[in-house]
Amino acid sequence: MTQDTITRYVIAGGGTAGWMAAAALARFAQPGTSITLVESDAIGTVGVGEATIPQIHLFNGALGLDEAEFVRETKGSFKLGIEFDGWRREGESYMHAFGNIGRGVGLLPFQHYWLRAAKLGIAKPLIRYSLNELAARTMRMQRGRRTPQSPEMPYAYHFDAGLYAAYLRRFSEARGVVRKEGMIAQVEQHGDTGTIAALSLEGGERIEGDFFIDCTGFRGLLIEQALGAGFDDWTQYLPCDRAMAVPCANGGDFTPYTRSSARKAGWQWRIPLQHRIGNGMVYSSAHLSDDEAAETLLSNLDGEPLGDPRPIRFTTGKRRRHWQGNCLALGLAAGFMEPLESTSIHLIQSAISRFLSVLPAGRPDPAIVDWFNDQADFEWTRIRDFLVLHYTANEREGEPFWDTVRHMELPDTLEAKLENWRASGFIHREHEELFTEVGWFQVFVGQGVEARGYNPIADTLAEEELRQLLDGTEFALIEEVKQMPRHLDFVQQFIKAPPQQ
Ligand code: FAD
Repeated sequence: MTQDTITRYVIAGGGTAGWMAAAALARFAQPGTSITLVESDAIGTVGVGEATIPQIHLFNGALGLDEAEFVRETKGSFKLGIEFDGWRREGESYMHAFGNIGRGVGLLPFQHYWLRAAKLGIAKPLIRYSLNELAARTMRMQRGRRTPQSPEMPYAYHFDAGLYAAYLRRFSEARGVVRKEGMIAQVEQHGDTGTIAALSLEGGERIEGDFFIDCTGFRGLLIEQALGAGFDDWTQYLPCDRAMAVPCANGGDFTPYTRSSARKAGWQWRIPLQHRIGNGMVYSSAHLSDDEAAETLLSNLDGEPLGDPRPIRFTTGKRRRHWQGNCLALGLAAGFMEPLESTSIHLIQSAISRFLSVLPAGRPDPAIVDWFNDQADFEWTRIRDFLVLHYTANEREGEPFWDTVRHMELPDTLEAKLENWRASGFIHREHEELFTEVGWFQVFVGQGVEARGYNPIADTLAEEELRQLLDGTEFALIEEVKQMPRHLDFVQQFIKAPPQQ
């Protein structure tokens, strides 16, 4: 930093992360602050990232985006959850649906009543108590329903990430963000502090700044190559190290959910958009060649492929420090976990909002920077644990990749969660952990992780009352879903909505 006040932000990189950062700063930074974004068309963006989680409403809402315009501009569709096909074993499927499952009684969450009912042989599969899953599986969608049985029906979106970045670019440029096209050739640092002083572009232009946001993707040009923040490699927990993506023409059902299908040495995603379906394989190169992955991907599409799949290499893990000195890393520059639960765009947004919550006016306070990095560490490791659960609790015996991940050593934090669940059906959610008890509950049950016990308070309900609780919930949800329009009709109607005032 050349001075004690931050008046010049420089964002390196213009993928989803870069333009989300630009839009947020354009909206919230002090008037008079300059925001410059540098990106290189020659490098391009990673070009994937199409499924989100409901928290994205907070980001879009904070920017003041019009929802119908956003869905129209990004060719989006709605998402009520993720289907996991074949993850426990071939031919079985379950859903991690957003929102509640069933109704608890008093202080006790529903999972304990369901576990007791399961012991009595009167529990039905979780779908019968989940509004989101019932709607998703019958291809229906509704927005803004508020009834006593289902006070919420949270949803997220599938969208074209390239179009989202372009949309945010228009938003940002209209609010004064200056975009510079060019290749960053050098990151200049102050000799005394090592903080970043300027970016030099090929061709000689020099862009000085007070605070820099590294959105340069996997290469981490500022945070790693210049500042050497370090990297925590999590390959031992999440061994997939390659992805291959290919869109295809629309075909099959226009599902209001993402599908993740387990394959021989990884899994395949399916994300329906208005104009195409996004597909991809995530796999372990130690167990599957690129050619085999491409063949598997191409032979499991619902429509004609719209291009050739190309491998993307990655190492799962995160930077040790996301914020160092006057540089914050966002997106792939901060780290990467496979898109099994659609968390990457969320991690960009949550880092932006955490940063804005302590927006430095001048030289960043080292204690605040440490706090920020601790929070990031907590957030990332707990998401990692949730992803690992999907792998470790598989019963796909005899398949080398699945055998390996079933027997791998687990992080202590995940071991503790598994132990709690197995012993008493208790799900310990730490403060501000992203995934809720209901999310963990669905994956535990879906993956066949058995709970030996449940909270004895669930026994205070007479068996008949328990039956009524379950049947009443199921009946009300089924009736409610019947009223909902089909997802396709809902989208077509929704994008015609006039702009909000
Ligand atoms: P990039 O898109 O790689 O952008 C990097 C930018 O930096 C580009 O503009 C590039 O031009 C610029 N740049 C780099 N070097 C230089 C240089 N020297 N000079 C100038 N400019 C430079 N996320 C989800 O939330 N949901 C998903 O479903 C999902 N699916 C994914 C599937 C895969 C296979 C992968 C790999 C990721 C997925 N993600 C998903 C993550 C998501 O794609 C990323 O989080 C998101 O796109 C952000 O990428 P980025 O902006 O950090 O990086």
